Amino acid sequence: MALSSLDNLYRQVILDHSAHPHHHGHLQQVTNEIEMRNPTCGDVIQLEVAVFNDKINDIAFSGDGCTISQASASMMTDAVIGNTPAQAEEMVQVFSKMIIGDQPNLDTKILEDASVLNGVAKFPARIKCAALAWKALNNALTSNDGKGKAGQIVEHHDN
Ligand code: ZN
Repeated sequence: MALSSLDNLYRQVILDHSAHPHHHGHLQQVTNEIEMRNPTCGDVIQLEVAVFNDKINDIAFSGDGCTISQASASMMTDAVIGNTPAQAEEMVQVFSKMIIGDQPNLDTKILEDASVLNGVAKFPARIKCAALAWKALNNALTSNDGKGKAGQIVEHHDN
């Protein structure tokens, strides 16, 4: 990705998260988990979530991928931890709209650092990289038994 095309400040935030990802690793207690891949880029994420008393008590990710996918996963975990699953799914919705550039007036403040990824909308090939962790979270939280279906990310913006 032409990272240099993003604003320098945004680029630095993305690089910091990628180099030193937050909530990277594994949890001792897991209520929801999933593995997802973005075959276009080769990104893989394993996501573990611990939901207790309707709150995302803890969250961790592992796997491998490009700068954008790793930074996005780190930012996602920061944003959703401590929130209810319903609030987290709202964040997923806002993020998904933001990265395809659909709605310029979105309130992206709830996304915290992840709001800097709005620049990805200009790079269609990287949208799936940014979306991977958020889709994984959504699938992990919405599966009935807590074991999300492992799968590949499918997007309509593959141009
Ligand atoms: Zn990627």
